Formats: sequence, structure tokens, C-alpha cells
Amino acid sequence: MRVHNFGAGPCTLPLPVLEEAQRELLDFAGTGMSVMEISHRSPEYQAVHEEAIALARKVSGAPDDFEVLLVQGGATLQFAMVPLNLLGKGDQAGYVVAGAWGSKALGDAAHHGKVYAAWDGAGSNYIRMPTPGEIDVRPGSRYLHVTTNETMGGIRMVDWPGTDVPLVADVSSEYFARPLPWDRFDVVYGGVQKNLAPSGMAVVFVRRTALAQRDLASYLRYDVHAAHRSLYNTPPMFSVYLMGMVLRMLDDLGGAAGLERISAGKADLLYGAIDESGGYYRSPVDEACRSRMNVVFRLPTEDAETRFLRGAREQGMVGLEGHRSVGGCRASLYAALPYQSVEALVEYMGAFSKGC
Ligand code: PMP
Repeated sequence: MRVHNFGAGPCTLPLPVLEEAQRELLDFAGTGMSVMEISHRSPEYQAVHEEAIALARKVSGAPDDFEVLLVQGGATLQFAMVPLNLLGKGDQAGYVVAGAWGSKALGDAAHHGKVYAAWDGAGSNYIRMPTPGEIDVRPGSRYLHVTTNETMGGIRMVDWPGTDVPLVADVSSEYFARPLPWDRFDVVYGGVQKNLAPSGMAVVFVRRTALAQRDLASYLRYDVHAAHRSLYNTPPMFSVYLMGMVLRMLDDLGGAAGLERISAGKADLLYGAIDESGGYYRSPVDEACRSRMNVVFRLPTEDAETRFLRGAREQGMVGLEGHRSVGGCRASLYAALPYQSVEALVEYMGAFSKGC
């Protein structure tokens, strides 16, 4: 029995994709092997790899002047690779810290270059994003790093920073769920294990003019991945394969613009239930910055939250616990989560608040 999976990542994958993978598990493309058992240099895998890259470009709407890289190590390795590849001697870069992930990105970058917080929301408990005017970008900065959706706090950046400095974005928890102003970016990256695929890699878009030869180990260099079409070493083939299948679906749904509409619909339904609960459920974040992907909410007491989560599990709704560092509840509404799952949750919330 499949459950309603509201997990924050890894998370639900589309059922038709899982079924197709199951059908192909013992014999992929007539090879008599699974996709995990064939050579990454074989024509069968090459086709999978190229299709996944082409679809990532198409669904995202990234223009041709970006390379699409598939890099292991998740978004976390990008916290290091971004400064290692973009910062030359004497360069500095600003970071918007609007939550735990932005804070980690800044902390890791500090090992590799001169970086600073261009805005830090810790004082207001990370319940909102900065307005464009609040971000303090030092003149001459190489880039400004933003986390467009803070997965733990449940807030999203609605307005882009007003600066001439190129942006670098961690879009992990809203990958391909909104069209991006690509002319503003030098790098866009994210782990795939929320909207796109099983864990195992990050998809990294790098503007070609931002590729530089750096004195680094090969795997850490964007230009090396670009020159080898992300086949410098053995790629995470199963993750790439499944991402290709998920991206075919997202393409059919209308790409980033289509997914944005669908995500807004799911989020509106859930926030509506919270707002109309007469204060029983409460969203702790600034209304203008509410995430469409990670809906954080509280109940009147921790005891009620424990009972709510237990009851949800009994009804086949899992992954609703807030991040272990903050508690409460969090429903993640990623690309593959069906609208019906949100309807089921809203119905349960209504019944629970009335004590039924
Ligand atoms: N950035 C954000 C916004 C995230 O949500 C996460 C994971 N939850 C990460 C970075 C870290 O990603 P990974 O586990 O792929 O390294």
C-alpha cells in the first residue's frame, strides 16, 4: 500500500516512474541487465544521460549559455564548489542567510574564500526573507548567494535581490518549480532528492563565462565536469535514469511554469485550511514569504502535535514531522506529491481540530 508521503526529502517519487523502473529493473533496453549494471560508457546509458541533461535544460528553461552538470555530493558539496570555482584571488562574495541552509552555505564557503553575510535573518528567527533593499551587497562582490527556498523554516524568496552582482542560487527544495530570471544567475544548483530523483547528485547550471581553470582536484572543477559532459568519472546512474523519467513527466506538465501553477494550487489548499482553522493551526512564518514546497505549521500544544502526527500515520500520511531541530509539523508538497494527498491531509486536519 502506498502512503501519502509528505517527507522533506528524500520524498515521494511519481508512481508511474517507479512502476516503469520496476518493469525495467531486470532488463533495461534489451541489455538483459538493470541500468545500474551496465557500463556508463555504453550507448544505452549514454542515451539516458544525454536525455536527462537535455530535459533538465528544457524543463528549467535555462538558456544555451549555461552548462548543465550532474555532480555527486548533493547540494552540500556545492557549498564548497561554488566558492572554489567562482572566487579568484582577492574576490569576495555575499550570502543571504535566511535559514539553516543559507547559514551552512556561508559557513562552508568561509573555508575557501572571503565571504560575508549580506543579510542575516537569525534575529527574527528566520521567519522571513529579506526585502530586496535590505540586502547589503558590497561593491565588487563576485556573487551573491541566495537559498531560494529554506526547507526547514518553510520560507521562499519571492522578490529577487536588486543588485548588479551575479546571483548564485541553491534551489534544492523548489527545483524546477518556478521559472527563473536566468540572466541574473551565474550558478543555479540543487540536490535532486526532492522534486526530481532519488538522492545521489546535484544538478548544477553554470554560466559558460563563469567556468574557470582553478588549481583544484579534478572532481571539484566545474570546467572538468563541463568538458566531460558529467562523465569524468562514473556518474550516479540510477539517479540520472530516474531523473530523466521524472523530467519527462514535468515536461508534459508544462515545465517550470506548469509546475509552479500546480505547486501554488497545492500550497493554497493547505494554507487555506490553516488560515480557516480559527487559529487551531498556525503558520509561524511571514505570510508574504510562505513556501509553496514546505508548509510549516503548529498546533496549540506539543501534545496535540504528537497526537496529530500519530493519527496521521495511522491514516497513511507520513513525513509530517517538523525538522528535528524545530519540532512542530511540516508538510512538503514536492512535484510528485498528488493533489489528492493534500486533500486527504486537509480533510484529516479539519476532523482532528474538531476532535472527531
Ligand atoms: N540546501 C537546501 C535548501 C536543502 O533543503 C538541502 C537538503 N535538505 C541541502 C541544501 C543539502 O542537500 P544535500 O543533502 O543534497 O547535500
